[in-house]
Amino acid sequence: MRYPYLLFDADNTLFDFDRAELRAVKVSFKTAGLAYSEELHRRYSVHNNACWAMFDRGEASKEFICLERFRRFFAELGIDADPAAANRAHLDTLATCSFPTPYSVEVCERLSKTHRLFLITNAVASVQRGRLARAEIRPYLEAAFISEEAGAQKPTKEYFDYVFAHIDGITTDNCLVIGDSLTSDISGANNYGLACCWFNPKHAPNPDGLRVDYEIADLRELYDIV
Ligand SMILES: [Mg+2]
Repeated sequence: MRYPYLLFDADNTLFDFDRAELRAVKVSFKTAGLAYSEELHRRYSVHNNACWAMFDRGEASKEFICLERFRRFFAELGIDADPAAANRAHLDTLATCSFPTPYSVEVCERLSKTHRLFLITNAVASVQRGRLARAEIRPYLEAAFISEEAGAQKPTKEYFDYVFAHIDGITTDNCLVIGDSLTSDISGANNYGLACCWFNPKHAPNPDGLRVDYEIADLRELYDIV
């Protein structure tokens, strides 16, 4: 066995975050008195992505950017809606949505018989704990390391220090990071000297030339890798 310790990203790796997000956006729009449309969703996403990029660069806290995305969105629309209420509705909805990605349940079930599985995730703790509690994959995961609880996030060294401090027997040579994000998962594994598997079902390019040890488009491909 090459990698007895498997560190899985959550969103858009084991959980279908896009589908959960769509539902959460619809509910938050409703809270603000907005009728959902793809065009409005696109305009919200511009602010949402810009705010999360600020967070990823360490320029603002999660609490700030979660509110700020709705503040900016409502300001652009010129409407007098409450960003805090919209954000609460958004997070509450996300916490109840644990749609699995294709084959994630069967892959986790099978690998859990031979490997130790962990979740490494940059997320709002209340959302991720809520989602995890309802998830079909929950019994197959030994622990979940949520950035908000760790006090650091992927791709920082501090985050992986936290993860390594909480798993007995793990070394930089016996684990594999599996995730869809180049900027958090793959970059984090590069920084910390860990083997990594890029889950890339949409066949996105790797513009920064990060080290990718394995690339898969289907989670079942892991069987031959680990
Ligand atoms: Mg992800």
